[in-house]
Amino acid sequence: MSSSLDSGWFTEVFDSHGSAFSLKVTEKLHEVQSPYQHLEVYATETFGNLMVLDGCVMLTDRDNFLYHEMIAHPALFTHADPKRVVIIGGGDCGTLREVLRHPGVEKVTQIDIDEEVTRAAERFFPALTESNDDPRAELLFADGVKWVDEAADDSVDVLIIDSTDPVGPAEGLFKTDFLRRCHRILRAGGVMVQQSESPLYHSGSIIRELRRDMGEAGFGSVATLPFPQPVYPSGWWSVTLAGKTCDVTTFREADAGQHGLSLEYYTAEAHRGALALPPFMRRLLED
Ligand code: SAM
Repeated sequence: MSSSLDSGWFTEVFDSHGSAFSLKVTEKLHEVQSPYQHLEVYATETFGNLMVLDGCVMLTDRDNFLYHEMIAHPALFTHADPKRVVIIGGGDCGTLREVLRHPGVEKVTQIDIDEEVTRAAERFFPALTESNDDPRAELLFADGVKWVDEAADDSVDVLIIDSTDPVGPAEGLFKTDFLRRCHRILRAGGVMVQQSESPLYHSGSIIRELRRDMGEAGFGSVATLPFPQPVYPSGWWSVTLAGKTCDVTTFREADAGQHGLSLEYYTAEAHRGALALPPFMRRLLED
């Protein structure tokens, strides 16, 4: 992966897939090298503000609702009664905002390794951080791998891994040992969900391996849900759910059908549709 700025266009190149994605930018708003990654924020002509970490597009104002709704709501409507939620990564706070929309959730802890991401989100993506003062929210800045290591057994209902790609600081979040510890800290009926890259580019590799590793870590049920994401490689992304004792291929359809949460993408129908894997994914994931 590499990126460049040429005549007002920000371009992220996906070398291993022979493709690239560009956005017309009007101004660089922010740049900082944190101890963990290089963070940039740009104003774009048509996608609002853009956050980039280590040259990879993280989010834009215009389309982040797709990712944030799909990493949060399918897992929350799969769990029978989620009260205690943990987010690993997610420093832009968009996932946190979605989780806090659920009135039954009593406490959400977000653990991102890099405080600079949250500080940049507060300045340049204020809509994403608007729920950060909710008394149910706790924001920690620490390594998610270590936090999960030290967490108590059977203490979490829904565990959300909203990480960067499986390189650099996020590499450990895709390892079987980490998944085993995630399984350990979930209560019976607990659900974990992990951002799992592009259905088109990664079904036969990262997603397939993640599903196998989730099975090896003790999860009895796994489901990968694809959804559109214009600014990520291939324009298409996925989350993978895993259930400790519950079946993640079903969900609380009646509750999801009348959620009243004023969302822009997630509906019971969208959830059901995402569970219906296209044949090419089924072949690559299940054969
Ligand atoms: N939507 C994005 C995507 O899929 O490309 C992810 C967005 S979110 C900003 C990813 C976050 O994961 C970053 O803020 C990064 O600091 C955090 N992160 C990476 N490795 C981590 C770790 N080991 N522990 C906690 N947070 C981590």
